[in-house]
Amino acid sequence: MKKYIRIIKILRREWMVIKFWGVRGSVPSPGKETSYFGGNTTCVTVESDSTLIIIDGGTGIRNVSSVVEKNSLKNIHIILTHYHWDHLQGLPFFLPLFNPSINIDIYGKRNVSKVLSTQMKQPFFPADYKNLPSKINHKKIKPFFNIGDISVETIENNHPSGCVGLKLIKGNKCFTFITDNEINAHSNQVTTQDQFVDFIRGSSLFVHDAQYTDEEIKKKRGWGHSTYNEVVAIAEKANCKNVVFTHHDPMRWDNALKEIISSYSKSKPNMHIKAAKEGMSIKL
Ligand SMILES: [Zn+2]
Ligand SMILES: [Zn+2]
Repeated sequence: MKKYIRIIKILRREWMVIKFWGVRGSVPSPGKETSYFGGNTTCVTVESDSTLIIIDGGTGIRNVSSVVEKNSLKNIHIILTHYHWDHLQGLPFFLPLFNPSINIDIYGKRNVSKVLSTQMKQPFFPADYKNLPSKINHKKIKPFFNIGDISVETIENNHPSGCVGLKLIKGNKCFTFITDNEINAHSNQVTTQDQFVDFIRGSSLFVHDAQYTDEEIKKKRGWGHSTYNEVVAIAEKANCKNVVFTHHDPMRWDNALKEIISSYSKSKPNMHIKAAKEGMSIKL
């Protein structure tokens, strides 16, 4: 009996549950045309045992408050990939910030305390960030770091003002999340396509910004986002079979996105390609 309990415990240790709370890029896009995939901006959670990691504070983060409350979590971790509005604008409405019994580690590439203090002050917001009741620790994103028993690796994205791509590893599970990245940036390229292929190789789940079609990107080179085909191309090179598109364009209506996914299920039958959808969770 003890042996089985030990095996179950070992298996449990390798679980990560990925959940999407905000999948839209650039600006919140509520409305009947976007309600299937959702209009909230970027926020994804990674849960494992009692560890909760929140990636980005777009408007989707508002609903993560209920998870913290339901599980009576006292320690949570927020990683901010960068500070563009669509990755920060929900944070002032994340209720655990106002709970004095909660510890929150917030990771940012640089000046995270200064950036959030600027966002949450008069006349932009009624509460002063420096006086929030929760216990907030600011941490600098390094190339490699650990949160609980999850190890995190990062890569520099090609994006105006910078952004970090993330690889979270637990046991033999690997979740790669790269938002706001122009895989084939024609100018200011800091990371090459081959380097991204190396980074994502071995991912159990690969999530990447796919904001544009091949036609649309012709006018949007240098904006720091990728096309569906560019994402699928690096996934194929890295032999990643489970691919999720995210950071949907605010003008990409549900029917158009469903058609795009349907065309890949025909052209790439050996891959599992999905579009991120609010409320979707994937267990690794
Ligand atoms: Zn964005
Ligand atoms: Zn951005």
